[in-house]
Amino acid sequence: MAPTTACTRTARPEQKALYIPKLVSGEWTGTMCLTEPHSGTDLGLLRTKAEPQGDGSYRITGTKIFISSGEHDLAGNIVHLVLARLPDAPAGTKGISLFVVPKFVPNADGSLGARNGVRCARLEEKMGIHANATCVMDLDGAAGWLVGEPNKGLNAMFVMMNAARIGVGMQSLGLTEVAYQNSLDYAKERLQMRSLSGPKAPDKPADPIIVHPDVRRMLLTQKAYAEGSRAFAYWTALQADIAFTHPDAEARKDAEDMLALLTPVVKAFITDNGFLCANPAMQVYGGHGYIREWGMEQYVRDARINMIYEGTNAIQSLDLLGRKVLGDNGAKLRKFGKLVTALVEAEGTNEEMAEFIDPLADLGQKVEKLTMEIGMKAFGNADEAGAAAVDYLRVIGHLVLGYFWARMARIALDRADSGDPVYRSKLATARFYFARLFPETAMLIRTARAGAAPLMDVEVELF
Ligand SMILES: Cc1cc2nc3c(=O)[nH]c(=O)nc-3n(C[C@H](O)[C@H](O)[C@H](O)COP(=O)(O)OP(=O)(O)OC[C@H]3O[C@@H](n4cnc5c(N)ncnc54)[C@H](O)[C@@H]3O)c2cc1C
Repeated sequence: MAPTTACTRTARPEQKALYIPKLVSGEWTGTMCLTEPHSGTDLGLLRTKAEPQGDGSYRITGTKIFISSGEHDLAGNIVHLVLARLPDAPAGTKGISLFVVPKFVPNADGSLGARNGVRCARLEEKMGIHANATCVMDLDGAAGWLVGEPNKGLNAMFVMMNAARIGVGMQSLGLTEVAYQNSLDYAKERLQMRSLSGPKAPDKPADPIIVHPDVRRMLLTQKAYAEGSRAFAYWTALQADIAFTHPDAEARKDAEDMLALLTPVVKAFITDNGFLCANPAMQVYGGHGYIREWGMEQYVRDARINMIYEGTNAIQSLDLLGRKVLGDNGAKLRKFGKLVTALVEAEGTNEEMAEFIDPLADLGQKVEKLTMEIGMKAFGNADEAGAAAVDYLRVIGHLVLGYFWARMARIALDRADSGDPVYRSKLATARFYFARLFPETAMLIRTARAGAAPLMDVEVELF
C-alpha cells in the first residue's frame, strides 16, 4: 500500500488512473527504491541518474539495494517508485526526484506493454522475513516518469515513508501478538516442576509452567506490550483519518500534529518491544524455542528487521527529539501532554486509579523537565540531543503507553463486575504494566541525562 499512498498525494491524474486501481486491487504490486550501496540513512548521497528524453519520459540508470519485493511472480506487474537525480539537480537531499518505473510499461488502456530495463541482479540472503524477496535492482536506462515536482522527490517519498513507518509498527505488533498466543498455549500445556507454593495440578506428574513467576513475567510482558501498543497504534491511525478527512480545520491540524509526533514512536517503540517480546516468547519454550520446528525462532528473526528498515530506530529517535519536539519548542508534545493532564485531573482524586494515575502524572512532569534540560544542552552542543535521543524516545513511548493503559484500566474498573473476564484480564495487565514495565523510565531518564560526554569524550583510537 505504501507506494499507493505516495501516488495518491503527488501523482498526476493520468498516473493515478493508470496505476492506483491495480495497486489497490493487488493485481500489481509496488516497491520503494531509495537505498543504494553507499546511501542508506543518508539519502543525500544517492547517485541514480534520470535523463530527460524530451517526450515526458526519463532514462533511469543506477543500482538500488535491499529492495523489498523487487522481483517476484506473484503479480502481473511491479511498479517501482525510484529516487534519482536529474542532470542539473543540486547536491544532497534538495536534488532528489521521484519516478515511477514499471517492470512492464503499461499501455494507455492499462494492458501490459514492453519489458522495462529494471531487473533483479541478486537476491539478498537474509536473517529472517524469507517470504519476501529482498533484491538488488539494476536500472539500466529504464523508462521512468516523474511523480510530483522535480527535486521534491524526498517530500513525496516521505508521505509514503510515514505510512510505511506505521505499517512497520503494526507488523511488529502482529508478531508480538502471535508470539504471545503461541507461548501462552505452550505455557498452559508444558508440565515441568512444581509450583514453589505447592502443587497446582496434583493429578498430573508436574505443574504446567504457567504457575512459575518467571514464566508469567515473560507472558505478561508480551501481553502488556501487545494490548497497550494496539490501543496506541489504532489511536494514532485514527489521527490519520481525522487529519485527512475532518471538516474542522483545527481538528485536522491537531490530528496532524499528533500523527507527526507519534509516528516515530509507533515505529521505534513498538518495533523495539516486538523484538523484546519475541525473545521471551521463545524462552517460554526453553530449548524447544530454539529448535526450528516450533516456529518461535522465526519470530525472533522476523522481528529484528523492523528496528532497521523504514529508517533505523536511532533515526526515529532523532526525528522525534530533534524535529518533532525541540524543532517546534515542544508544542506538539504539549498537545499530547494536555491529554495526559486531562486524564490526571479527571482521575487524580480517585483512590482506585491511584496506582495508574500517580506514576503517569509523575512521568508527565519528569518528561517536561527532561525535555527542557536536553533542549538547553543541545543548544550548546547538538551531540547532546544525539546522545539522549534513543532513551528519550523510549521514555515518551512509556508516557504514551501509560496513558492508554490508564484509560483501559478506567474502563476495566467500571466493568469489573460485568462477569466478562476480559475486563479482569485488562485490569490485571494494567497492574503488571505499571508495576513491572513502566518503572524502566527511571533508568532511562538517568541514562538520557548522562549527556554526551561519556560517549563523545572517548577518542576514536581508544575504541
Ligand atoms: C530486509 C530489508 C529490506 C529493506 N527494504 C527496503 C526497500 O524496500 N527499499 C529501500 O529503499 N530500502 C530498503 N531497505 C534499506 C533500509 O531502509 C536501510 O538498510 C536502512 O535505512 C539503513 O540504511 P543502511 O543499511 O545503509 O545503514 P547506515 O545508514 O549505513 O547506518 C548504519 C548504522 O549507523 C546508524 N546511523 C547512521 N546515521 C546516523 C545518525 N545520523 N545518527 C545516529 N545513527 C546513525 C544507523 O542507525 C545504523 O545503526 C531494506 C533493508 C533490509 C535489511
